[in-house]
Amino acid sequence: DLLSLAGQVAVVTGASAGIGRACAVELARAGADVAVNYHGSREGAEETVALIEALGRRAIPVQGDVGTEGDVARLFDEAERQFGPVDIAVSNAGRQKDAALTDMTLDDWNAVIGTNLTGGFLMAREAVRRFRAKGRRPEVSRALGKLIFDSSVHQRIPWAFHVNYAASKGGLKLLMESVAQEVASEGIRVNAVAPGAIATAINQSEREKAGGMDAMLKLIPYGRVGDPEDVGRVVAFLASDAADYITGQTLFVDGGMVLYPGFKGNG
Ligand code: NAD
Repeated sequence: DLLSLAGQVAVVTGASAGIGRACAVELARAGADVAVNYHGSREGAEETVALIEALGRRAIPVQGDVGTEGDVARLFDEAERQFGPVDIAVSNAGRQKDAALTDMTLDDWNAVIGTNLTGGFLMAREAVRRFRAKGRRPEVSRALGKLIFDSSVHQRIPWAFHVNYAASKGGLKLLMESVAQEVASEGIRVNAVAPGAIATAINQSEREKAGGMDAMLKLIPYGRVGDPEDVGRVVAFLASDAADYITGQTLFVDGGMVLYPGFKGNG
């Protein structure tokens, strides 16, 4: 079964809720054991661990800030200590700190770049180092390692009043593609998912404000807000040998948001 991740070990950042949790659970459903990184919510991470254990896989919660070198190294150390060498790394942690350009503080800028982009760099660097040290395991995967970023449709669509977020995701796009180019010959595949509007805490206030849901649905040709599992399933696919010839790509998981539905007009 090319979709199977049996016998593989994964780390997922920001996996105490939302898309990160769904990625961790879908990787486990496909057969992987998972180190569940969390930043703030120990309870959330323990809930993710319980969901994975209910699927018959192993999981551990690991606290850490993806913007901190030592924490990222420790995430891999803990995963290796519990489960053995890491085959799959999912860099999912991300945040928004929205403001109009002229109201945006340097702290707002640095906070978002530090987690979304620098966190992605630190995850990529550590994952590639660990994949090299691990060596090939042809009995579980054709690739030496699989690295997957959680980007956003805003790696392509400009986003007024969110310039820090859009810049971080645009940066992530070329980080992903450049790393993919650098390590492909070693058998390491590097890809991204770009979610559109997925129902999680990150956009809860937007969805719940008056008219917010209608405004969001206008941007989604497929006519529904996504679930975290919509993204988690694609991440599990990208991690599997079914996607063995895919590297350096972004899969948009967005119900058609990047089709620019405003241009549909009235036919
Ligand atoms: P979320 O707020 O539920 O999850 C984000 C997670 O990242 C949280 O668990 C948070 O604790 C964690 N995190 C934040 N800073 C961290 C740090 N420094 N170190 C470790 N973890 C940290 O929202 P989500 O929607 O699940 O977001 C997950 C990813 O998906 C983010 O990268 C986000 O940009 C991306 N995304 C989400 C959507 C959407 O519509 N929900 C759309 C596009 C992209």
